[in-house]
Amino acid sequence: MSEQSVKGTPFGGTERPSRSFGRGRVCRDPECQTRLSMYNSGKYCYEHEPMTVPRTRGKKIA
Ligand SMILES: [Zn+2]
Repeated sequence: MSEQSVKGTPFGGTERPSRSFGRGRVCRDPECQTRLSMYNSGKYCYEHEPMTVPRTRGKKIA
């Protein structure tokens, strides 16, 4: 039986420096103080997000 040395599997060298969109941002609405998630790429909180995406079933709305 030959021992298989499992070396770190090459993932193709994909380095993903988990990008965030900055911390401590708040909704652009002047009256809204809602903090945006740093993973929220938008400028508004989900309540004021102009592009409210309705629930779609795998459909892409233009
Ligand atoms: Zn807001």
